[in-house]
Amino acid sequence: MLDLRSDTVTLPSAAMRVAIAEATVGDDVYGEDPSINALEKRVAELLGKEDALLCSSGTQSNLLGLMSHCRNGEEYIVGQEYHTYRYEAGGAAVLGSIVPQTIEVEADGTLSLETIEKRIKPNDPHFPITRLLAFENTHGGQLIDQAYFDKARILADQNGLSMHLDGARLPNAAIASGRSMAELAAPFDSVSLCCSKGLGAPIGSLLAGSKELIKQARRWRKMVGGGMRQAGFVAVAIDYALTHQFERIQQDHDNAKWLFEQLSELLAGTEAKVRYSGTNMTFVELPDSLPADSLRELMTENDIKLPGGQKLRLVCHLDVSREQLERFVELFKQWLSREH
Ligand SMILES: *Cc1c(COP(=O)(O)O)cnc(C)c1O
Repeated sequence: MLDLRSDTVTLPSAAMRVAIAEATVGDDVYGEDPSINALEKRVAELLGKEDALLCSSGTQSNLLGLMSHCRNGEEYIVGQEYHTYRYEAGGAAVLGSIVPQTIEVEADGTLSLETIEKRIKPNDPHFPITRLLAFENTHGGQLIDQAYFDKARILADQNGLSMHLDGARLPNAAIASGRSMAELAAPFDSVSLCCSKGLGAPIGSLLAGSKELIKQARRWRKMVGGGMRQAGFVAVAIDYALTHQFERIQQDHDNAKWLFEQLSELLAGTEAKVRYSGTNMTFVELPDSLPADSLRELMTENDIKLPGGQKLRLVCHLDVSREQLERFVELFKQWLSREH
């Protein structure tokens, strides 16, 4: 079975399951789960922040981050296509009463600093109070230039704003840039890190920031029902992933690039567009003359799962091997000779 839909689909290995079975746990709401306490300390250090908080998902850690920065009626500036605006069911607005000010995302995954500057509201009772800039790295699998974030930090400081990073795929950004996660997180006041994507843990994200911010986030986490008890079983799986499954992310990047090269070659001379994100994703946009439905049908018959639509996002992860990709490319070739 090969599943190219997302890097969230990975399954825990036998060794990770042993770690889970042997976890020492306690009641985390009392602060007494040693595995969680150790993980939060480890991740705070990895991200170069004072403290960290284990959350049920990236959506939750982003929500707690936004709510810890902004009070009701305050505003965050965010990309139109960023997860914290578009893919989190409007949680910041619904649960935090936080106003989103969206900005079109540039081709390189950033937001124009000139546009941000124009959107920052003056202190006037007509306007919401601008409080936060929210960014993403990687965005759509694309690594963001660190020099950009350094410039954004200057703009934020000039205007008394905080910065939050949705680092759902920060491990991919670290591997692709050769920088540590702490370096990448340095310009930000808070960072959300997903452990159930490239790292391959089954559950969990962490929010990192100052002691004060995490104290606030812990309160919000309780309020939204995220105070888990013996969640050390989750923490040890993440700890295992950080130790054993971080460096191997390079293989996912190599695989996605290889896939890009193979598909580019096969699709040369067609109207299809193939693009490599630079990390673990390759995108194929098929013209109407090459219906993705028949491709999906063939792949389903061969136990391969693809996303819907004519624009396919193919994601490499822990459970994707080069052999499986070779088989996929072979089938793709068969399909193409039939359709073309
Ligand atoms: C996956 C993802 C998240 C978090 O998603 P959850 O499914 O809630 O863990 C946040 N931001 C980005 C950019 C993501 O890709």
